This record gives sequence, C-alpha cells and structure tokens, in this order.
Amino acid sequence: KKILITGGTGFIGQVLCRELLAGNHELTVFSRQKAESVKACCGRVEAVRDLQQLWSHPGFDAVINLAGEGIADKRWSEARKQQLRDSRIATTESLVNVIRSWGRAPEVLVSGSAVGFYGDQGPDIVTEDTRPHDEFTHRLCRDWENAALALSEDGVRVCVSRTGVVAGPGGGFLERMVLPFKLGLGGRIGSGTQYMPWVHRDDVVSALIWMMETSDASGPFNVASPNPVTNAEFTRCLGKVLHRPTLFPVPAPLLKAGLGEMSRLLLGGQQAIPAKLSSAGFQFRYSDLEQALADCLKHQQ
Ligand code: NDP
Repeated sequence: KKILITGGTGFIGQVLCRELLAGNHELTVFSRQKAESVKACCGRVEAVRDLQQLWSHPGFDAVINLAGEGIADKRWSEARKQQLRDSRIATTESLVNVIRSWGRAPEVLVSGSAVGFYGDQGPDIVTEDTRPHDEFTHRLCRDWENAALALSEDGVRVCVSRTGVVAGPGGGFLERMVLPFKLGLGGRIGSGTQYMPWVHRDDVVSALIWMMETSDASGPFNVASPNPVTNAEFTRCLGKVLHRPTLFPVPAPLLKAGLGEMSRLLLGGQQAIPAKLSSAGFQFRYSDLEQALADCLKHQQ
C-alpha cells in the first residue's frame, strides 16, 4: 500500500514506520524536519515538508495522522494550549483539505486522539461509550477527532485511536519517570488512586495497523491495555522491575504548584479498557504490566 504518515518521526511514529516498511508498504512522511533527519528516524521513506506539496496528488491508499506538540512538554499557558490545538486540529484540517484535492480518495484515515478525551473519570471503567468530562484535554481531543471524522462525509473510513499512556523503550513518559526511581526516590503521585491506562508501544503500533487493515473498523477505539492499573500499582511494579524502593510519594499540592493545570495529567486518570478492540478479537501482546515494563527497561535494570 502507499501510505501517508504525519508524526512519523515521533516516539510512536518511528516504530510504526519500521513495522510498515517491514510489511513492504511505501511510505511518505510529512515532517517539518529535513529529509535526511526524517530518513534517519523512519528509514527509506519519502519526506514531505509542506502538506501543500501533496495538493492534487494522485492519491494514497491510507493516511495515518499522529502529528502534535508534546502534551506534557511545557506548562499549559494560554499560548501553549493554542500550540497544542493548532499542531493537531489545524494540521488535521489542512490534511483533510489536501486529501479532498486528490484524484482518488484513500480507503482509510487513521487519526490520533488520547484517553484524555474522557477527562478525569476517577475509578469508573471507561469504554468508547463513556460520557466525557468537559476539560481542556477533552476539548482538545474532541476537536482533533472531529477534524478527522469530517472526512467520513466523503465516504472515507475514519478510525480514531484514543491512545493510553504509551510505554516503550527510550522515550515517552517512562523515560521521565525512571531517573528518580533509579535514584531510589520513586513513589506514588498524589493519593496514587488515579488510574493509568498504560499500553505498550508495540501494541499501539499493531492497533494502528489493525485499524488501517480492518475494512469494517471505524470510529473511536480505546488503545490501552486490557488491564489498567492505579498509579500506586504502577509505582510498585516499576520499583519491582528496577529493584528499587518506592517510598517517596510526590504530594499533589507540590505538583499543582509546579505544573499548574498540566498536573491534571498526573493527578487524574481513566480506567480505560479497549472494549471495541477486544470485542473485535484484537490481541494485545502485552496485557501484563510487569512484562511490559521489563521489556521497555531491559537495558536499564
Ligand atoms: P511525539 O511527540 O514523539 O511525536 C509527535 C510528532 O508530531 C513529531 O514527530 C513531530 O513531527 C510532529 N509535530 C510536533 N509538533 C508539531 C507541529 N507544531 N506541527 C506539526 N507537526 C508537529 O508523539 P508520540 O509519537 O508520542 O505520539 C503521537 C501522537 O499520539 C501525538 O499526537 C500524541 O499526542 C498522541 N498520544 C501519545 C501518547 C503517548 O503516551 N506517547 C498518549 C496519547 C496520545 P516533526 O518534528 O517530524 O514535524
């Protein structure tokens, strides 16, 4: 298949590109970076720096859209919130407009979103049908999803990945968490009762490819492991895998003072389960957290 990818240079995108290339697909990656950097990240792909270069293109078979500024990279000032929105929603709107200019419509658009769509859901089990709470991450994901779903009006199948907290080697949230744990300073965050809908990066990549290939899949899918855990359980498991104590809880007021509204990412959560993927028979390679963490950290233990 000929596939166009945005966000292909990222933490998830690089592994996705590698997997798709191994499956003999032809990839074009939209990236703000130079072609050499894109090839260094993604392998033998074609790089496109401006989406407008693809205006009136003959067409791709599938499009996978993962571009977006890192949600946890900087405090959420009003200007930062606008960057988080523009890098996802405006990029997706431009992408959809460009797709509409093609000689032939793609069969499918697989587009990013996050479990943040639901807002903080406390201890409740969260499926794709759960009613979201209105907060910044909800509005961000809702508008991002709607920008992609607009293409279904043109008869294109659209799938949306409401991705959980992605664990993988060398990057993502785990890389930021590991150092204090290795120093013996790890501990739960706040009360530790908030849920972390963790998912191994290999399973995210498999789920994205599954959505692309499954002709009757459409709409939103929770892409989180079937076994979400609380932050306290996650903390215990990470300590066990790294053979370190976990005695130093991070107090909620300290996080709120340090991170402002962004602290909601750490102090809230969702017990999100992959209801639609599971009922469609999708198999997760990693459903056990300890095995997933051991795989991610095998070079660090
Ligand atoms: P990364 O931050 O690693 O990569 C995102 C990519 O988006 C980058 O490679 C970059 O590509 C592109 N990008 C960044 N800023 C902009 C911008 N202003 N305009 C256009 N493109 C931009 O993300 P991940 O791989 O971790 O995640 C992929 C998507 O999945 C993201 O949108 C993220 O929000 C979402 N997600 C990720 C989760 C996780 O735990 N990792 C959890 C839930 C959702 P380039 O520099 O080549 O232009």
